[in-house]
Amino acid sequence: MRVKCALCEVIENIDDYSLQAKKLRNRPIHTYLCEKCHDRIKEKTEERVSTGNFRFYRSPLVEDDF
Ligand SMILES: [Zn+2]
Repeated sequence: MRVKCALCEVIENIDDYSLQAKKLRNRPIHTYLCEKCHDRIKEKTEERVSTGNFRFYRSPLVEDDF
């Protein structure tokens, strides 16, 4: 099955019977990432975790006017 990477838009052919293909078919919302982008994101995430700056949600800076 042909899949398109959500980040760099490269089109790849993955095995119809692979776990990844199954996942994509079951959940069409699930976006495909090519190996390169997947690794890049993983690296970035690990980098942030190790520096302690990792946040799942960015908390907005709100100043309260009293
Ligand atoms: Zn990609």
